[in-house]
Amino acid sequence: PHVARLIAAGEVVSRPLDVVRELLDNALDAGATRVDIEVEGGGLSLVRVRDNGSGIPADMVALAPARHATSKLAPETDAVNRVTTLGFRGEALWAAAQAGILELVTRPAQQVGAAQVSAHGDQLSVSRTSAPAGTTVTVRHLFAHLPARLRTQATPAAEVREITTLIGRYVLHHPGLHWRLTVDGEARLTHAPSDHRGAVASVYGPLSANRVVSLEAPGLRGVVSRPELTRARRDRMHFSINGRPVVAAPELEKAVIEGLAELIPAGVAPLCVLDLTVEPENQNPNVHPAKQIVALADLGAVAAQVRDAVAQAMAGQVL
Ligand code: ADP
Ligand code: MG
Repeated sequence: PHVARLIAAGEVVSRPLDVVRELLDNALDAGATRVDIEVEGGGLSLVRVRDNGSGIPADMVALAPARHATSKLAPETDAVNRVTTLGFRGEALWAAAQAGILELVTRPAQQVGAAQVSAHGDQLSVSRTSAPAGTTVTVRHLFAHLPARLRTQATPAAEVREITTLIGRYVLHHPGLHWRLTVDGEARLTHAPSDHRGAVASVYGPLSANRVVSLEAPGLRGVVSRPELTRARRDRMHFSINGRPVVAAPELEKAVIEGLAELIPAGVAPLCVLDLTVEPENQNPNVHPAKQIVALADLGAVAAQVRDAVAQAMAGQVL
């Protein structure tokens, strides 16, 4: 049972990047307006995410690291088909506590004292403490007791690159929040509440921000760069569906490129940040444990809408 548990946890948390993503999702689900991320040793020594969100009530806190404990899904059997939160499986904190040492300090704004939970494997301790409203989750010594898992990890520098890219995507899709990433004590990325253009400035610099055009259509908002900012890779094309940054969206990438049509040479791609909003029942993030791939019920129609919105935004531009 112990081995089975570690394997199951490894599906959710196989590297520090997974811990960061899950903790960011929890902060957003908690309605945070400020998210602070700290990473040490490529995330293997420490990942910490501090938010000013709803916090966890004292009487619920011991449950948070339990497997399948989630406050986000209504008990109806089909609720998973209408997910509106980023988390819904109740496995992230549990998996983090299997893979490393989890510490959680949390206080809802209206509650007087804060609660502190430490969890590792099946050990759990809860105590009282004081803390600002919100939640701080720290995961230390990831995989320290799992040498096989440790051996397959990327170098700290490579992991930090991926973590920085991931956080950049969250900033781009949630530009209305305060964000800060600190790596080994040094500030890497900071962002103060702004719009998509401001987020492009925080992530890619002011030159890029000056070259984006805003785009708005029903269920769709964001920015797309003017043709001079194209590059051979599609690594600056960003999409979110109902607030969830998604990867592997080739149909949406193609739609944006088609929207730019003859404005750009073949084989290049623009920078874009597009937030899509669809009915919860028309999207399914339950495709993969990392929930970064979302199946859309009506992908063809959504792609056509994206293409037309990009074309229209560009038509209004003096290029
Ligand atoms: P899920 O997000 O799928 O519900 P998690 O294991 O990530 O599962 O978290 C378990 C539960 O702990 C959540 O449902 C939520 O109630 C609570 N929780 C976790 N992180 C936070 C946070 N940052 N702020 C408020 N509540 C949180
Ligand atoms: Mg979660």
